Amino acid sequence: MADQTADAVVVGGGTVGAWCAYFLRRAGLARVVLIEKGLLGQGASSRAAGVVRMQGGTPEAVRLGQWSRRFYLSQRDEIGTDSGFTEQGYLLPCFTEAEVAAAHARLAMQAGLGVPVRWLEPGEVDAANPTLAPGLTLGGTFCAQDGFITPPRNVAAYTVALIRSGVEIREHVAFRGLAADSVVETSQGRIDAGLVVLTGGPKLAEVGRLAGLRIPAGGVRHQVAVTERHPDLDPARVPMVFDLAEGLYWRPEEGGLLFGMSNPDEPPGENREVDEDYLARMRARLAGLVPVTAGLGLRRVWAATIDYTPDHLPIIGRARDRVTVACAGGAGMMWGPGVARAAADVALTGSSDVLDTSPLGLDRFDEAGRSRLATDPIALPFPERIASS
Ligand SMILES: Cc1cc2nc3c(=O)[nH]c(=O)nc-3n(C[C@H](O)[C@H](O)[C@H](O)COP(=O)(O)OP(=O)(O)OC[C@H]3O[C@@H](n4cnc5c(N)ncnc54)[C@H](O)[C@@H]3O)c2cc1C
Repeated sequence: MADQTADAVVVGGGTVGAWCAYFLRRAGLARVVLIEKGLLGQGASSRAAGVVRMQGGTPEAVRLGQWSRRFYLSQRDEIGTDSGFTEQGYLLPCFTEAEVAAAHARLAMQAGLGVPVRWLEPGEVDAANPTLAPGLTLGGTFCAQDGFITPPRNVAAYTVALIRSGVEIREHVAFRGLAADSVVETSQGRIDAGLVVLTGGPKLAEVGRLAGLRIPAGGVRHQVAVTERHPDLDPARVPMVFDLAEGLYWRPEEGGLLFGMSNPDEPPGENREVDEDYLARMRARLAGLVPVTAGLGLRRVWAATIDYTPDHLPIIGRARDRVTVACAGGAGMMWGPGVARAAADVALTGSSDVLDTSPLGLDRFDEAGRSRLATDPIALPFPERIASS
């Protein structure tokens, strides 16, 4: 016997779980309970870099980016606050002929889905990026409507949305497992839930294990730093840039540059210690591309555990009739609201108008966690395998 009942219980108070709980409530469910083992946003969601890009590598990625960006722009009217979306423009430069060919193919796919992305010739890249060392690129794709959110502000925005919509927030309550079909066992009793949505970001595999599910999602250290201010780094002169081959990206932040880079050799697992040697490599790569940063000190450096999936695509699907799983695959700032809305729709009706979720369920993975889908070609170079544990 459960102590309590709810129409839906959502596990995990990050951007995916919280926005999903909000969308379930907005869809008309009377009692939606969000359980979070610590504090809202304490996982990856408050520690991200905030990049939001419609220039996705697959049609699914593009649709989730488009939906999430639209949602960020609509938030103020809908909930009275917002996640701080800033339209900055995003450049993906090419350094080899192979990258140029891949970029043109991607651009055609993205433009076909309505993304206002265009090709910049090398001279145009340099003109649009006065801080970039000139003459380095063979051109690149640029979307002026891509941008970034402020991750802690997003946590504040979803907290407001949860409270205003009447979602019941239970912090310091841990998910312990599922009894019967959808009776949720927590550290503070059982809740008989009509629907259950499981999230957990880098901890999703563990949440899955507690529920008796094998979910091939992992976590790995990812490092971000912010330089001191410099007049050359005024936001009007600095579009966001993603050096795809190296996994290095940057954007303006309070008069300096925020930059992050993924180490493909980083062993999977939780880790929030700063790796000074790798930070030196990040700085060297950035200084080669943006020379003004070479002489600048750092104002902030942090490392946090980022979620990933073997194909770098999201997981959105029912694991059982009343149990839905949602994961943004390491792109929860650019895809999070779209993943959350699609997961709420799938939990309620089995499908979503955000995108066709049928390829994105757990059934795309084999026993070893290998995906049937091709890997998203525009992703940070995370490990493609999940740590065995
Ligand atoms: C350094 C860094 C930079 C990033 N930069 C970007 C970026 O620029 N753009 C982008 O799109 N994405 C970025 N990301 C990725 C993005 O932050 C994540 O994809 C997103 O936050 C995942 O959201 P989530 O809700 O799934 O997970 P989380 O935010 O981790 O939330 C999961 C929650 O579940 C809770 N939980 C876990 N287990 C249990 C349990 N048993 N019971 C109850 N609660 C539980 C956790 O405490 C946590 O609060 C970045 C991530 C990092 C770490």
